[in-house]
Amino acid sequence: MATISTRSTFIHGQWTAADSSQLYGIPDWGKGYVGVSPEGHLTVIPTKDPAKSIDLHEVIEGLKARGVHTPVLLRFNDILVHRLREIRNAFDDAMAEQQYGAAGGGGYSCVYPIKVNQQRHVCEQIANLAVELNFGLEAGSKPELLAVLGLSASAGGPGVNGMPIICNGFKDDEFIETVTLATKLGRNIIPVVEKWTELELVVKHAKQYNVRPKIGLRVKLSSRGAGRWESSAGVRSKFGLFVSEVLQAVEYLKKHDMLDCLNLVHCHVGSQLYDIRVFKNAVNELAHIYCELHKMGAGLTMLDIGGGMGVDYDGSQSAWSSSINYTIAEYAADVVYRIKSVCDAASVPHPKILSESGRAMVAYSSVLVMDVLGTSKFASDPDIEAVDALLKGETEPPQPLLDLVDVYRNISDRNLREAFHDATQGRDEAMSLFSLGYMNLPMRAAAERLFWAIGHKLLERASKKGELPEEFESLPEFLSDIYFCNFSLFQSMPDSWAIDQLFPICPIHRLNEEPTRRGILADITCDSDGKIDHFVDKRIDKKILELHEVKDLPGEGAGVEPYYLAVFLLGAYQEILGDLHNLLGDTHAVHISHDANGQWEIDEIIDGDTVEEVLAFVQYDPEDLKRAMRQDVEAACKQGRLTLIEGKSLLKFYDEGLEGYTYLEG
Ligand code: PLP
Repeated sequence: MATISTRSTFIHGQWTAADSSQLYGIPDWGKGYVGVSPEGHLTVIPTKDPAKSIDLHEVIEGLKARGVHTPVLLRFNDILVHRLREIRNAFDDAMAEQQYGAAGGGGYSCVYPIKVNQQRHVCEQIANLAVELNFGLEAGSKPELLAVLGLSASAGGPGVNGMPIICNGFKDDEFIETVTLATKLGRNIIPVVEKWTELELVVKHAKQYNVRPKIGLRVKLSSRGAGRWESSAGVRSKFGLFVSEVLQAVEYLKKHDMLDCLNLVHCHVGSQLYDIRVFKNAVNELAHIYCELHKMGAGLTMLDIGGGMGVDYDGSQSAWSSSINYTIAEYAADVVYRIKSVCDAASVPHPKILSESGRAMVAYSSVLVMDVLGTSKFASDPDIEAVDALLKGETEPPQPLLDLVDVYRNISDRNLREAFHDATQGRDEAMSLFSLGYMNLPMRAAAERLFWAIGHKLLERASKKGELPEEFESLPEFLSDIYFCNFSLFQSMPDSWAIDQLFPICPIHRLNEEPTRRGILADITCDSDGKIDHFVDKRIDKKILELHEVKDLPGEGAGVEPYYLAVFLLGAYQEILGDLHNLLGDTHAVHISHDANGQWEIDEIIDGDTVEEVLAFVQYDPEDLKRAMRQDVEAACKQGRLTLIEGKSLLKFYDEGLEGYTYLEG
């Protein structure tokens, strides 16, 4: 027997918001940032103070009243700030407890790698806090360098803040020259040498401009990473110098009288590192290299442990790709402890520690809310009367159909397995008869419908018992509904498609009502890959999500009653990796915070892409398109294929469509 899920065992009696909270695992992955109100609405608690909760349903209704439709990405600036402070406090506490840097040196800075989410609003928010928290920024390419140089100016100006700026990635002559001049400008900028030629360029430009640059070296550690980005470390990694090259670099800098400029050593062992042991090993190795180089006379003062601090997407707090087996506090304590013990043993002053913890900083701050457009279901009612009538009309009713009716009528708690076996056999035999031409289409349809109905009945009874017999573990997935949602997986959560990343998903309302349906989610792209059929559930491979029945609105084609789902933890990597598949563009993004009275307020609404914009991105000129349509409509009106009114309507839809949102607006 397999358990159905850690959370979805049925809770009998009156369904409450607390039941939903448990079912969707909200306290586990929400980490205090997400809650459920007694009226069954999902709330965001940006500072983890429940007195300051933001009702997501209220926000969506408020936005609708302002003409802003879902899908919409909500950014909570206060969550971002809270995360930054949590990281800062964790290192401050660890350092105070372990007396790190008590004899001089020490300190900690988190530098935000802007590639994780380069949106100006996100980066500005971090840059604005950089002075207070002693944080910095990291650039991994030429465009990012230019952005970071601009951002660090607004954060306090040259020489005032001294915000550390780390430059990783490939650098050419122009890149290093810009960095050298930025040093002259007063920026605390550290190019991290990833390959030998970069070191030569740093020395060349330092001499040309008479600058004493701060130089970092990225080292290829022998410690391996773990998980999806395992190859970020190790001797076969793409970046960094072999230890033999590091030693040559020391000689090279000595020769140029610049060994005092070698200020930082760096490593990066991968993103979303789920096992704290990986960090411990890597930091230990890097700390030893730091001490050795220090003793050789390098002017080292900083040790940069790179990114990788993960996020507990599924709330299991365990070592697997969608989770992590440590907290921020544990991470900080371990990093500080490892570096301190290695340095103390070597009698080397404690370095300033830098980390590039992008994901951990920003993942929590963005939430996507999308509306359900409709559903597709497997019937759970076999319409037994219609089947009986069908069978009566046959002189020789097909045996498999009679068997299926019999199974359906006689299911009991004691024969679940037997019923499943008989139903599977009945269904298979019915399909064979149809393929051989011995069964007509209505009979085949009835057999299918009976099989689904039996499956539903079996599942219901098994769920009540809290256990699924091994054989019908695939039934929930097989019988689940499809909920069509107004979003593009490729635009809003590309890692779900590309690397099977799990993200927590939950309805934002009706949470004091039992979700009686089980479904998977499909997006509006015309790609069969555009679906979500894996959901978070504490390491259980959960292939369905519990959802509420969504009723059709009265009237032909009137759609369904509003039903909204939220996807959490989208702040890291998703916004920038998203693409224009099917020309579905950026969603609207809305910045939400609290006003002085504790009410939520909209700081900013950033309109999503219009159709015109995405078409222009692929080199269409909207004016050319409009002109072509006008000519065509004119000709059709002349030839009587369209009336003038029809032609006018079509052109109106076309023009308005070009100016409109790329998503469906109901
Ligand atoms: N630093 C470097 C050099 C990276 O390549 C990355 C991402 O892969 C990061 C920092 C950020 O990592 P994370 O977002 O996992 O903290």
